[in-house]
Amino acid sequence: MSSNIDEILDKLEKGELSISRLDQFLKSSNLATLVRRHYLEKKYNIKLTAIASTLLDFEDLVGHNIENPIGAIQIPVGVVGPLKINGDYAKGEFFVPMATTEGALVAGVNRGVKTLTLSGGVKTKILYDGMARAPLIWTPSVEEAHRLSIWLRNNIDKFKELTKQVTSHGELKDMQIFIVGNMIWPRFVFNTADAMGMNIATIASDRICKYIDDTYEGTHKCISVSGNLCVDKKPSYLDKILGRGKYVIAEAIIKKEILKDVMKLSSYEIDYINKSKNLLGNAVSGSLSYNAQFANIIAAIFLATGQDLAQVVESSLGYVWTETRGEDLYISVTLTSLEVGTVGGGTWLPTQKESLQLLGISGGGNPPGTNSLKLAEIIASTALAGELNLLAAQAAGELASAHEKLGRVKK
Ligand code: NAP
Repeated sequence: MSSNIDEILDKLEKGELSISRLDQFLKSSNLATLVRRHYLEKKYNIKLTAIASTLLDFEDLVGHNIENPIGAIQIPVGVVGPLKINGDYAKGEFFVPMATTEGALVAGVNRGVKTLTLSGGVKTKILYDGMARAPLIWTPSVEEAHRLSIWLRNNIDKFKELTKQVTSHGELKDMQIFIVGNMIWPRFVFNTADAMGMNIATIASDRICKYIDDTYEGTHKCISVSGNLCVDKKPSYLDKILGRGKYVIAEAIIKKEILKDVMKLSSYEIDYINKSKNLLGNAVSGSLSYNAQFANIIAAIFLATGQDLAQVVESSLGYVWTETRGEDLYISVTLTSLEVGTVGGGTWLPTQKESLQLLGISGGGNPPGTNSLKLAEIIASTALAGELNLLAAQAAGELASAHEKLGRVKK
């Protein structure tokens, strides 16, 4: 075998074979992974032994989750908990996995978790659930765009039927129409049960676009299945206002005694820093998102549970709102477009699947959709813990010292 590998390495070096054809050439993605790695090790005179160390079986992954694999990157995973949640879907106490290399993050969020659990837990509510795809259609004039918009509205039942032909869990639930000049975007919104839903929404939208092209008699052309009013992997007011994925709110009331015991602060100090930093500071900076660190918590849980990491962008949009209630503190986080799934994407990979099992939500829910709703409530509750802790740390002037102690590499 090693002489075979040497021959293949030789072909790669001479440019007679490309690294992207190795899986097909060797009829094995695990072997292709090894050869690709050896090729790079030899080319750059380095060792990739850490990247080689993985339990992933690339025979299963190539064609679904990765191309040209050379191994895996390992990220440490920690837990915060027990986090008490009284949600519509997440009920009970949870240990939440967070994958990160940022020292002090897990410890800090865990202090927020402790405060919330001691206070009786977090209440959560999901107000909206829908994954959007917005194709872009060209017409010659606003007159034609307007005529098409009427035709689209009259054909929504047909679009629902077409959606059923390509997915058993996806369901077209809404269509929002935008027109600028002669251009028109139907923004299709789908319920995608326990899947984050981007493939389901794209495949169904593509099917609908083909039907429009074949059937609508006015002059028009579907330019792209995604016309950027979806809005995927980009920060936007549209997602914030209309919602995308799950629109979820987590709230809690923290008794003054618990605030004082755990955080050494009053409700007034936290309320003041939230309004001055998260609201005024973000308004002055022009930020789209009025929070201190949603992305920290969302990225770490996304990584641990196999979500699409690029969707941290819009999943981290939202608000932190605080009020003093007597001497107690009301605090809430609102995530307007949290995109999560417990099936599809990277959720079935071994370590990610175990993280979902830890939360009791691996795979499809019973009834379908309930597992992804539960995940959304858990993420929003953990984001609440992160905000509470960071606001407290900053109000007490502890942010730099916590990172100095826990967040710096010493070697
Ligand atoms: P998917 O894995 O493509 O689709 C989910 C699959 O799970 C479907 O085949 C569905 O079958 C099945 N399923 C079984 N039980 C289900 C349940 N309880 N709820 C929902 N579905 C169930 O996943 P996706 O969430 O639609 O797409 C996620 C992937 O899209 C990620 O890998 C992400 O990185 C990628 N992505 C794609 C685009 C794009 O433009 N295409 C953009 C961004 C991200 P049925 O369909 O028959 O119901």
